[in-house]
Amino acid sequence: MAPGGNICMDVPESQSSDSEQSVDRIELGDVPLSKPSSVSGVKAIVSSSSGVHELLECPVCTNSMYPPIHQCPNGHTLCSSCKLRVHNHCPTCRHELGDIRCLALEKVAESLELPCRYQNLGCPGIFPYYGKQKHEQLCQFRPYNCPYAGSECLVTGDIPMLVAHLKNDHKVDMHDGCTFNHRYVKSNPHEVENATWMLTVFNCFGQHFCLHFEAFLLGMAPVYMAFLRFMGEEDDAKKYSYSLEVGGNGRKLTWQGVPRSIRDGHKKVRDSYDGLVIHRNMALFFSGGNRQELKLRVTGRIWKEQ
Ligand SMILES: [Zn+2]
Ligand SMILES: [Zn+2]
Ligand SMILES: [Zn+2]
Ligand SMILES: [Zn+2]
Repeated sequence: MAPGGNICMDVPESQSSDSEQSVDRIELGDVPLSKPSSVSGVKAIVSSSSGVHELLECPVCTNSMYPPIHQCPNGHTLCSSCKLRVHNHCPTCRHELGDIRCLALEKVAESLELPCRYQNLGCPGIFPYYGKQKHEQLCQFRPYNCPYAGSECLVTGDIPMLVAHLKNDHKVDMHDGCTFNHRYVKSNPHEVENATWMLTVFNCFGQHFCLHFEAFLLGMAPVYMAFLRFMGEEDDAKKYSYSLEVGGNGRKLTWQGVPRSIRDGHKKVRDSYDGLVIHRNMALFFSGGNRQELKLRVTGRIWKEQ
């Protein structure tokens, strides 16, 4: 999705809100979309040296095999999804496959205990063979997806790696501190395309938070939305709260919320309206002037719940 025009963002660093002269303008249209290839995703390493574990690797697709494990009359094993694909002939010796289970291997698997596949990322867990997958889907050490919205970035990794990636590859603004005061400017607010977005990363309490600002169409109606995501697990995200405020002409809208973990995709958070939602009419009213330019000042604060 191409950014829909030129939203810019002015970023005064602190709370003092009325100084407009020292702000940098950042053109949304110029935000570089990096090529994901510049940083490789963290690859899972199956970290068992056990030869038995190698036996449980499907020789065709190299995935771990789970019951029913099949074999040909000559003893070559393969996994059940490969069996469906090979038209009843053993991929190793071409013999007709039939329907022979390899119960011995299924039993051996049952007796195995293996480290989590994210052991190299810090997970100390050891699991029975058949429980390992279930754990790995929820393992807190599993890599995070890149939180950058608007491009289909496939980079995954741990938080420090993703922070560096956002900064270096997506050229995201990084801020220290728990308060912010941003100004979002768009010269022609009547041209809202399906999505425009800004991301700023805040470093406070030794954690990283992503502030998203977006313009998108809700049905036919253009809306603006700001929300915060926490770079970490949901349990830790809940330890924080944040507030956002936008206003003008003597009125204001405030939002208080709990940051969502970046485990929740940016779209999921957006589509649940878990943030400050500003309808365009209101946004133009806040902007003042003759409704020809969008000028929203969004202030906010992040704090730690006791
Ligand atoms: Zn297979
Ligand atoms: Zn065979
Ligand atoms: Zn794990
Ligand atoms: Zn990325």
